[in-house]
Amino acid sequence: NRLSISDPIRTNDILRKYKLRAKKSLGQNFLTSEKVLNDIVDASGLQPDQIAIEIGPGIGALTEKLAQVAEKVYAFEIDPNLIPVLDETLFDYKNVEVINDDILKVDLDDFVKEHHLEGKTIKVVANLPYYITTPIMLNLINSDYPFESLVLMMQKEVAERITSEPGHRQYGSLTIGVQTQMSARIDRIVGKNSFVPRPKVDSAVVVLERLPNPNDGIQDMDFFNKLIRSSFAQKRKSLMNNLLNMFGRTDDNRANLKNVFETCGIAENARGEQVSIEQFKQVAIELQKFFA
Ligand code: SAM
Repeated sequence: NRLSISDPIRTNDILRKYKLRAKKSLGQNFLTSEKVLNDIVDASGLQPDQIAIEIGPGIGALTEKLAQVAEKVYAFEIDPNLIPVLDETLFDYKNVEVINDDILKVDLDDFVKEHHLEGKTIKVVANLPYYITTPIMLNLINSDYPFESLVLMMQKEVAERITSEPGHRQYGSLTIGVQTQMSARIDRIVGKNSFVPRPKVDSAVVVLERLPNPNDGIQDMDFFNKLIRSSFAQKRKSLMNNLLNMFGRTDDNRANLKNVFETCGIAENARGEQVSIEQFKQVAIELQKFFA
């Protein structure tokens, strides 16, 4: 009847035994709340015949919980100093494989094929390193392998941007990049005291689930992405101004854009943050008639 890895007493024992100092540069903040860990696993809905991919196992607090419910856990950890620690803390869990690699350098589609996991339900569950939340998340969402769901602990501020809605300050290109492919909701907010060492910001657990028809209605994804980037390039400027910067400030372009805005029910002086994803999709379709 050992204490869980996340128990503050056990976490501190492990850190002392291996003379570990959490590396700020790698975003190392270890979870020491059993309740939060159980909530994360519950939010993932992991079943005994499913696979978990974890990013940044640290000293294994979340990995342990995942191993107790999933068929198999693959955990990617960049810090070589943590590998011998994980060998010991996770010794009892034979269904865990720790991989010493940088998640941003791993092609997860290849990984899934090499491990013969096609056809399995694979869920990504992680307490992310916050210095690279966005690239990790976008890589996962845009990976060729369609992960069914992602349950990710991240800084609250990013969570609010991802789950935002039109008309809110946080609504922008990140919101749209995520929500064209996944539904997004905040499962819970997590305070700084649930980690050792305490991070500087509050956190949130975000649940992302793949939509039945991701990118539905978008004919040319590259064009759509460029449109979104341009629409929010200067957030305080109107959508019209941002798009004129993209296409060129000619009278023809202005007239065509006016036309498209009218068709899509967008006011001429609207800003990008007031335009819904459905409207942006429609704008992309209409614009291609003029600018393809
Ligand atoms: N899962 C542990 C927990 O919940 O207590 C630790 C989470 S800690 C916030 C983030 C972890 O990600 C650290 O262990 C860190 O070393 C690891 N990490 C940082 N950058 C990484 C990268 N590029 N690839 C894989 N792991 C990384």
